[in-house]
Amino acid sequence: MKKLTIAIDGFSSCGKSTMAKSLAAQLGYTYIDSGAMYRAVSLFAIREGLINDGKVDEAGLKTALPNLRIEFKQGEKGQSITCLNGENVEEAIRTMDVSNAVSPVSALPFVREALVKLQREAGKQGGVVMDGRDIGTVVFPHADLKIFVVADATIRAQRRYDELMAKGQPASFEAILENIRSRDELDQNRAVSPLRQAEDAILMDNGLFNIEQQDAWLLNQVNRVLHGTH
Ligand code: C5P
Repeated sequence: MKKLTIAIDGFSSCGKSTMAKSLAAQLGYTYIDSGAMYRAVSLFAIREGLINDGKVDEAGLKTALPNLRIEFKQGEKGQSITCLNGENVEEAIRTMDVSNAVSPVSALPFVREALVKLQREAGKQGGVVMDGRDIGTVVFPHADLKIFVVADATIRAQRRYDELMAKGQPASFEAILENIRSRDELDQNRAVSPLRQAEDAILMDNGLFNIEQQDAWLLNQVNRVLHGTH
């Protein structure tokens, strides 16, 4: 059977990675979290002292970028682990510090150029589910299936808050909501590859679904593409 390329784009903390992971596992496809790549570059920039007061030292990052290697390894439970120069940074890239730095870093054209190249390389065989902001518009404009996910900002903030609390990471609901709103704003209004729904993407309002409903809805979309049904 044909191996599809599936693009899942949308706003921050909409549950894209949960649904993309689950879909990839059900189909036996590769899951790629493009946001993790932008987060890894941001973590690198923070560690190298290239972000001060929210401002990125662009020249410094551009010079350092060739020294940065991002890979995905498979964990014992089959989960995808983001590695930065060989180090497992899966936890480190999910902190609020990185969340606050990632939108300005991902707005830089040379960062996007480098990561889009890596993403295309990783997905070139098909049989891939990739989630992000510009997968259906820029990375794989000819993807077989494109989904654009939205959900109310307060629902997203509550889910993120619950997730951090469950991990034992102290968090403020207000700070999370503020971060989500400001990332929405920056992601939609940046000059290069702004977040927007591709013309041929199918809209999913994830605020209306629980996990089982979201999985069933997605699988239905995949079957529609694979079998040409409506
Ligand atoms: O998906 P996640 O929230 O982890 O992504 C973190 C940030 O990376 C986003 O807020 C966005 O600024 C950036 N990003 C991007 N393009 C992508 C994926 C993520 O600009 N394809």
